Amino acid sequence: MFVYADNAATTAVSKAALDAMLPALQELYGNPSSLHQKGREANYALIAAREEIARCLNAESREIYFTGGGTEADNWAITEAARLGAEAGKKHIVSDTIEHHAVLHTLARLEKQGFEVTYLPVHDNGVVRLEELEAAIRPDTCLVTIMFSNNEIGTLQPIREIGAACRKKGVLFHTDAVQAVGHVPVDVEADNIDMLSLSGHKFHAPKGVGALYCKKSIKLKNFIEGGAQERGRRGGTEAMPGILAMAAALKESCAHLEENMAKVSAMRDRLIEGLSKIPYSRCNGDPGCRAPGIVSFCFEGIEGESLLLRLDLAGICASSGSACTSGSLDPSHVLLALGLPHEIAHGSLRLSLSEYNTMEEVDYILQQVPEVVRMLRQMSPVWSHMLENTEDPYLAMAK
Ligand SMILES: *Cc1c(COP(=O)(O)O)cnc(C)c1O
Repeated sequence: MFVYADNAATTAVSKAALDAMLPALQELYGNPSSLHQKGREANYALIAAREEIARCLNAESREIYFTGGGTEADNWAITEAARLGAEAGKKHIVSDTIEHHAVLHTLARLEKQGFEVTYLPVHDNGVVRLEELEAAIRPDTCLVTIMFSNNEIGTLQPIREIGAACRKKGVLFHTDAVQAVGHVPVDVEADNIDMLSLSGHKFHAPKGVGALYCKKSIKLKNFIEGGAQERGRRGGTEAMPGILAMAAALKESCAHLEENMAKVSAMRDRLIEGLSKIPYSRCNGDPGCRAPGIVSFCFEGIEGESLLLRLDLAGICASSGSACTSGSLDPSHVLLALGLPHEIAHGSLRLSLSEYNTMEEVDYILQQVPEVVRMLRQMSPVWSHMLENTEDPYLAMAK
């Protein structure tokens, strides 16, 4: 059996997205900035795509800027909010320790440029404490940036309350909603969001296209110099195939949001229940407040990498955490921020589902993972050390 359970890294392109993309590669090849009929035709399609994205977020279409993905949107939003802040003499930013590297590395650059950043710690379930956030906002704070849904452990932050707190104090609020848009309800008005990043390939559109929502009252400046595209703020001929596909994919995700959420959370809950039966395992993140598709576990006594290789041989595509940190030997900064010791954080497994997965696949995962964990533990020196030093009857039995 083959199971793709790495949807937080990227998703398969949907039929709706592909159907929207093909005309852009074939007959709709005009440059939307051209005045002739081919250009106009492309421009109408672009306008419709922008309206569609705006509608799904409850934004206005002039508040949507297309980008080359989630990373660019994060860089742009944070860099611009910081520039606006500095102009007003405000050089303090509030964020947290479990953000994506697109946010953390942008903040690190700003710190080198003289900004001060407060990184809020998270509860052991990965949630930011609202009181701490409010207390961290100072008269010189120009931006609060907190992600909507965490890509490794799936924890959802209290975005609406955070947004309300920022409004009350007159501070800009940006959220990296790359793992939320298309997966859970996102409403920039109701959620009090000023700036939001999204990425197409996390909801069945192709890679390399995303968007930044920026409230119309914010005087956003261009991030990429060039032509007058994106209201003069992001030069470069629009990536039409990706943009049209992204709009179609988001339209479909939003139209089926409730049913997809119900389907995917039921699979997630079955996975969590089944994996929790493995002794010395730990489910990371919040049990209730989590994205529909993300399951994160740590298994004591084993290496996440070996687990992934074995699962791959069994046809299961999973991840140890974020796709961006795999390849490095450091345990995930997110798991460490939850307070997990290094040796436990090393034995991590992330399974991320989409509506394309099935219960049969979940059952196959639940048949394979306990088997592989048992086998790896038999070969693990860390595990045998635990066995030798234990009073625990379960472990004693395994001696
Ligand atoms: C994937 C991801 C990004 C980066 O998006 P790209 O489109 O791949 O650049 C940013 N933030 C989060 C939370 C993500 O999951």
